[in-house]
Amino acid sequence: MSTAKPLTLYNSLTREAAPFRPIDPDMVRLYSCGPTVYSAAHLGNLRAYVFTDTLRRTLNWKGYATTHVVNITDVGHLTSDADAGDDKMELAAQAAGETAWEVAARYTALFKADLKALNVLDPSIWSVATHHIQDMIAFARAIEKHGAAYEIAGGLYFDTSKVPDYGFLARAAPEGPEVGRIGEVQGKRQPHDFAIWRRSPPDERRQMEWQSPWGPGAPGWHLECSVMSMKYLGRRFDIHTGGIDHREIHHVNEIAQNQAFTCSADTGANWWMHNNFLVDRTGKMSKSKGGVATLGALVARGVHPLAYRLLCLSAHYRSELEFSLDAVSAALTRLKRLVGTVAKAAPADAAIDGWAAEQRFSRGAALDVFRDQSECELPPAAADHVDRFDAALADDLNTPVALTVLDAMLADRRLDARAKRRLLASFDAALGLDLLRTARADLSLRPETASLDAGAVEALLGNRQAARAAKDFAAADAARDRLGAAGVEIMDGDTVRWEWRPALTD
Ligand SMILES: [Zn+2]
Repeated sequence: MSTAKPLTLYNSLTREAAPFRPIDPDMVRLYSCGPTVYSAAHLGNLRAYVFTDTLRRTLNWKGYATTHVVNITDVGHLTSDADAGDDKMELAAQAAGETAWEVAARYTALFKADLKALNVLDPSIWSVATHHIQDMIAFARAIEKHGAAYEIAGGLYFDTSKVPDYGFLARAAPEGPEVGRIGEVQGKRQPHDFAIWRRSPPDERRQMEWQSPWGPGAPGWHLECSVMSMKYLGRRFDIHTGGIDHREIHHVNEIAQNQAFTCSADTGANWWMHNNFLVDRTGKMSKSKGGVATLGALVARGVHPLAYRLLCLSAHYRSELEFSLDAVSAALTRLKRLVGTVAKAAPADAAIDGWAAEQRFSRGAALDVFRDQSECELPPAAADHVDRFDAALADDLNTPVALTVLDAMLADRRLDARAKRRLLASFDAALGLDLLRTARADLSLRPETASLDAGAVEALLGNRQAARAAKDFAAADAARDRLGAAGVEIMDGDTVRWEWRPALTD
């Protein structure tokens, strides 16, 4: 019988992996730093949400419910993450000739559409920074009252000498250049002190500014995440996620604020988890070179968005992931093969798919596969695959291994099609590749009408073979193109029905 592996997660605070234990045994409380909505999300940013979604789905697989908060930063993020320069929103609005509010609305909608295309689950709560200004002012006043903030001409600043182990998360000397580095501001006590509230310059009116005890201005970006995480998840919650670029400054400063607010050494979240960078050695992601920095640009090249998700899952989240068009193209080919394999080895089954739609897909539900055999009889071999899949996820979300378990399960001759379909439903609830739908070949963002029936496909394949045998390559290519236009691709001499086409924006 199956044995569950305890979930082990890497914690950036301790710099080691350890068994995960939530504060409340039934509900994991999770906060993820969201986007600054001044432009379309970069593919590297989107990697962070695929990682967070995988974490959340893994927690569900292990039987936990989750409360997940993701913020939308629509004010306060400056051109430098180190808290210097102008507000990104205001600059983007000037460049676009729009209001900052219009820019925020447009890119918030685009961000949510990107996540949907990547099959990322909606958070329990979207928290928008500008909806929480009064909460932020109250939080900042508390920090000031606790003696960890001081007012200068530029606004209210955090006094980093007032918290224990400032910069511990970043593991650098507090005086080192990496931690909390901030451009010089007149009147600051320590180089790493940062703005909690930025007062607007006396001769300037900003689009996004509010009255405060420190004059008209706007909250600092770091303050937003401290306030919104604690408001919805409590002073102590389980996990805080973000890109690894947040580990040295943003999260260091969030922790400092949390400690000053609670007058304790508590870091807020018990676990701080960071995904590594998407790296671009080819320059293909560079917008200035007309590259493919966004999901929309990839899709316009004919890449299914879930191929990007598969690319992310094919590397461990703590490893750098190298971006290139070859890597994306290989991921697309892998997705198509997977779709083809599912269509043949584990085709759609109304009873199982209906059952799947009703499950919450905890590991318990995966094991219900064995207890509830009303839909299909499962051989003992199924348990091996569930165990191996569970062990991969439990090992700090080892998705590259989980994907190989999926491949092995689909290829296992000991399992019939219905057993495979049932296991596929469970596994994919954790992987989020939407394989139950994609493999029905009806995942058309814009439906195409050029489908061929099976007889026509066979006839064209026959024509192609005959033309190749006669060395009439033009005719062979024509048959292949006709198949391609109907969404049937020839891969490794086999066919994969792939009817998806990118949605073209009008
Ligand atoms: Zn944040």
